[in-house]
Amino acid sequence: MSSTSPEPATNESLPAGLYIVATPIGNLGDITLRAIDVLKRCDRVACEDTRVTGKLLKHLGISKPLQRYDDHALDSVRDRLIAQMRSEAITLVSDAGTPLVSDPGYDLVRLAREAGVSVTTIPGACAAIAGLTLSGLPNDRFLFAGFLPVKEKARGEALAELAGVQATLVFYESGPRLVKSLTAIGEVLPGREVAVARELTKLHEECRTGSAGDLAAHYTAHPPKGEIVLLVGPPAHVEASAEDADGMLREALATMKTSQAAAHVAKATGLDRKQLYARAMELKDQ
Ligand code: SAM
Repeated sequence: MSSTSPEPATNESLPAGLYIVATPIGNLGDITLRAIDVLKRCDRVACEDTRVTGKLLKHLGISKPLQRYDDHALDSVRDRLIAQMRSEAITLVSDAGTPLVSDPGYDLVRLAREAGVSVTTIPGACAAIAGLTLSGLPNDRFLFAGFLPVKEKARGEALAELAGVQATLVFYESGPRLVKSLTAIGEVLPGREVAVARELTKLHEECRTGSAGDLAAHYTAHPPKGEIVLLVGPPAHVEASAEDADGMLREALATMKTSQAAAHVAKATGLDRKQLYARAMELKDQ
């Protein structure tokens, strides 16, 4: 059996390297035992905002040197941190949740790995996953797409690009932009089941599901406060019979190559592309 217990609580300092530590997304009780242990035993904490992380550490009774770090950090700051990781245990945290997930850290982790520095992850809260689990939407396949673009045209294009993805789509969203995004989803991805997961793990946690139109109407009447994860269910498969599929393949073959026709019908029906390709070859020979 692999070890499932946290490292034993000790005051010994940690081996040098980079430690990616997830922190709570609202409820401070969601800090993990390992996160506390690593924060206690590390030499330095690299964080997005020293005030936010300072408060968390104070709550935990921990005092450590804090180094402000984000993806716009000067190369000199990044280089210094990489150099320090060779002899010190450096913890990377963001303001809330899992670092790197729509948060700083990507460059630092890449560079640390390239430099041969040991990198360890201490997983924990992540709003995207918390929202997904609460939404009741299919979770066997999901695509996390970060924040939608702010500008209307770019937002519509981003949604259109995701229209064919057979998975639940997960976005981060803000209160003031929620209704605009819901309206765009109603237009570009009609008929989908949508969920708005708000203030996760906090006092006013709520998860509301419905059509994009109904949710847009609700949040127009009740402007949402706080932090939001917006989720869009996968496209419904058209229940296609063999005859339907043949008809669709014939129609597609009139303008497309065989492989394109098979892919097109597979996307529309959810039927197996390879089987559709074989059937399309038969239809062509008839
Ligand atoms: N790295 C973080 C994580 O693991 O969840 C996300 C950081 S991203 C800059 C912040 C966004 O995450 C917010 O704008 C919101 O969309 C979402 N978020 C964070 N905390 C949340 C919460 N408690 N409830 C709902 N959404 C949350």
